[in-house]
Amino acid sequence: PPFPLRMSGAVISGFGRGSKELGIPTANLPVDTSAAPWISDAKSGVYYGWASLRGLPADHPDAPPAGGQAAVSVSVFPMVMSIGYNPFYGNAVRSAEVHVLRRFAADFYGAEMRLLILGFIREEKDYASLEALVEDINFDCEVARRSLEREAWKPRGLGLGEGEGT
Ligand code: ADP
Ligand code: MG
Repeated sequence: PPFPLRMSGAVISGFGRGSKELGIPTANLPVDTSAAPWISDAKSGVYYGWASLRGLPADHPDAPPAGGQAAVSVSVFPMVMSIGYNPFYGNAVRSAEVHVLRRFAADFYGAEMRLLILGFIREEKDYASLEALVEDINFDCEVARRSLEREAWKPRGLGLGEGEGT
């Protein structure tokens, strides 16, 4: 399907594979094929784009201050994500996991994340070692960062809300 692709949902718990311990936490989103029908035809692999977050709890360190303009402002962050089949769940159930290219002071399970996916980086791969996996993911992050620096890929006016894109 043609870019940009959109999807959104509340951040849910993932597989607890310890991505966070590797320094690459991934926010898992439910895959809703009625809201994002394109996902059935999308290639499994690594994608990049922008992510916005709404509904951080008021006591979350990264939540905007209550009241005033901040109440309507939405933060937009660069992201790299994987879309893949999880063999555990059989059938055609996809998983979608987003690594936001920014450091957060606390988790944000339950927050609403909206994605604007702008490009494909590479296909899914099997790894012989954890080191090889982490090395590839770090390279994916670099590819995503550089791609999103291009002027035409700036998030303004792309429908995610106001944002500088970090
Ligand atoms: P899980 O298996 O539950 O997905 P992870 O180890 O993948 O656990 O961590 C994901 C969680 O970490 C996210 O749901 C989010 O709340 C939090 N998190 C903190 N920083 C980030 C980030 N930069 N990108 C994605 N998620 C992050
Ligand atoms: Mg995860």
